[in-house]
Amino acid sequence: MSEKEFRLDPDSELRFEVEGKQDTVDLTLVNGKAEVFGTELAPDKPYTFFPGAKVAVFTWHGCVLKLSGPTEGTYVAKETPMVMYLNTHACLERLRRHADEGLSRGEDTRGPVTMVVGPGDVGKSTLCRILLNYAVRMGRRPIFVDLDIGQGSIAIPGTIGALLVERAADVGEGFSQEAPLVYNFGHLSPASNMTLYNILVSRMAATIQDKMVGNRKVAASGVVINTCGWIKNEGYKSLTHVAQAFEVDVIIVLDQERLYNELVRDIPFIRVVFLPKSGGVVERTQSMRASARDDRIREYYYGLRTKYHPHSFEVKMSTLQIYKIGAPALPDSCMPADMKVDDHMTKLVPVEPSVKLKHHMLAVSLATEPEDLLTSNVAGFICVLDVDEDLKVMKVLSPQPKPLPKTILILTEIQFMDSS
Ligand code: ATP
Repeated sequence: MSEKEFRLDPDSELRFEVEGKQDTVDLTLVNGKAEVFGTELAPDKPYTFFPGAKVAVFTWHGCVLKLSGPTEGTYVAKETPMVMYLNTHACLERLRRHADEGLSRGEDTRGPVTMVVGPGDVGKSTLCRILLNYAVRMGRRPIFVDLDIGQGSIAIPGTIGALLVERAADVGEGFSQEAPLVYNFGHLSPASNMTLYNILVSRMAATIQDKMVGNRKVAASGVVINTCGWIKNEGYKSLTHVAQAFEVDVIIVLDQERLYNELVRDIPFIRVVFLPKSGGVVERTQSMRASARDDRIREYYYGLRTKYHPHSFEVKMSTLQIYKIGAPALPDSCMPADMKVDDHMTKLVPVEPSVKLKHHMLAVSLATEPEDLLTSNVAGFICVLDVDEDLKVMKVLSPQPKPLPKTILILTEIQFMDSS
């Protein structure tokens, strides 16, 4: 196996990608101190990275690193925006201390709610991870909200999710996904149903606010929100809606001055900060994004380093209630007089189980009545492996053994071919 050592000066980073589809790469800190997106490395411990990983190992004080396995695009960069990212963290930490003092005086206050925005492939998710890791390393317990339904890191694509971050992210696998709060949207772009997206964002914001009221440590730590890279027209409007719903204190704009100027103009009462993107952020093609989404669903069922064992079993169709959210758009002239466009975007449409559902992901809603489907969070996701219309049974892939914890399901547009 190929092995190579790298000697890094202070304030520099080693960047690499794991080559191919099969092999993994091991990274070891031989000497000094280093971190991967804000998580400190332990000395002499090999960290494994999986195919598709694009990694930066940064050092503040200099270090020696060893890479074993097939990598590509491997180089040491001396120019990074890490000092600016650290300064941003220091400002957020000041706001947290301020909140701590207020809370101990019995005031109704909280730590900073920070939102990271910018176009696609500028390192939004990475900056969120760095800021959250730095907060946790200071003993904070921040909440991470991921509203990026296309490339989000919580649950599966097509959802928005939130996590309480109690530990720094695992170097290879990211933040621990224990008990995330997940709402199902069911599409890959907010544009597919803007009304529903905004409803779910507001719902998530209200739940997070409640969580902060109940826990002083979490309240002082604040929230970091990752957003979609869709920043024009309706996408821009949805960002302003997120800012409003979460009562955001700080907006960090990565890379785009135009977006920065628009936000400063339109929301003058929120602190808007411009930060450059890192030269290391890797641009992804549509097909790379699609395969990253596929990998996420595979990881949801099978795990990455920690292996999970999903279950496949048959479910009688008569025991299930499946709905789709949003009816097909009708021309205005055909709409009932008392129905608005927004109404049909949130309409519950019963779905008859049929072979058409094959390979679709279904969200297992925690709603007890169909009326609550829209705003209930979900327990998890099953994938339809097969449908027998004659026997009226559906074979599904589930993270949990049978029976399904709930039987009200939401059909999503997300599909997964289980080749495992
Ligand atoms: P999206 O368009 O999906 O919202 P994004 O703006 O959130 O993307 P990231 O997902 O943070 O961007 O970064 C894109 C890729 O670049 C990721 O695979 C990440 O690991 C990688 N990356 C980020 N920063 C660096 C860096 N400094 N060096 C090398 N790779 C990096």
